[in-house]
Amino acid sequence: MRIVVNHRHAAHAGRQEMHRGRLVDCVETPARQDLVAQALQAAGFSDCVTADDARSATLALLPRIHQAGYLQFLETAWSRWCALAPTNAAQDLLPDVWPTRGMRHDRLPANFAAQVGYHAFDSGSPITAGTWSAALQGACCAVKAAHAVARGEVRSALALTRPPGHHAGPDFFGGYCFLNNAALAAQALRDAGAQRVAVLDIDYHHGNGTQAIFESRGDVLTLSIHGDPQTEYPFFIGHADELGQGEGLGANRNWPLPRGTGFRAWREALGEAIDAVRDWQADALVVPMGLDTFHGDPISGFTLATADFNEIGADLAALHLPTVFTLEGGYATSAIGENAAELLCAFTRS
Ligand SMILES: [Zn+2]
Repeated sequence: MRIVVNHRHAAHAGRQEMHRGRLVDCVETPARQDLVAQALQAAGFSDCVTADDARSATLALLPRIHQAGYLQFLETAWSRWCALAPTNAAQDLLPDVWPTRGMRHDRLPANFAAQVGYHAFDSGSPITAGTWSAALQGACCAVKAAHAVARGEVRSALALTRPPGHHAGPDFFGGYCFLNNAALAAQALRDAGAQRVAVLDIDYHHGNGTQAIFESRGDVLTLSIHGDPQTEYPFFIGHADELGQGEGLGANRNWPLPRGTGFRAWREALGEAIDAVRDWQADALVVPMGLDTFHGDPISGFTLATADFNEIGADLAALHLPTVFTLEGGYATSAIGENAAELLCAFTRS
């Protein structure tokens, strides 16, 4: 397995996120990626590269996944934020106003604060001085990982990156995500010749950004196993009756599971999702690899143990598909490295 490492990830280090009326320390920290990198190195993964050489290919691909206006917003948001007031550089950028039902979504206001709310769906995902740099480099990692797999250089690759990506949609950010690395990998695989790409999201939280990006397309199957949005973030999407639209009808499936779900029930859902990938005759696979299904995760509610990630890796490997993993959630820093290594070791062994 090739590991494509985001060496600029630490440029994005949010200070505080809004949680239930209070500003609290960010949960999505640079340590997460470093801990996974250390664990993979200790486990013997040695094929590690960076992705600077994928910059031009990534810049060409980005507007096919995200709207051009959104990309321009992300690239310039920090400088515009700092231009509003000299003191703004000392704090992160968070939205505080949103267009809701009955308001206009077809006109982007000129006011910068309004634009932030237009593109955001929560107040937990701060934009910092290095957000664009880190997210863009992560996108490069995803594209380079997909190219390595598509060219047959390796059977599988991991985009080892943060901030994560699966909550980022065509023109919105949230859930700590800004650019959708998994969607970029899927598109890169399609462009390199794969006819039918499946995205199987195993993060605790619904992959709403990926679903939104591909919901009207019939060439990318999007599947997500996650906490039931009746009680779990992102709340407003991720139900079982969301099956895609238009040409994408039938190419989206969700497995919302109750908070507290253990590995036995979770693995049944995984089995159904794997069957769906097989039935759909996918010729390449992208796995947004969230590790926040772990029982010790501070912001999630499933009860998987470290040994269970071993089973997940073996189950996914049984598909025998060229596979790109992207690092998504996972906030139990004491275990994130071990859990990632368990899954990926089992995948490569199987
Ligand atoms: Zn998550």
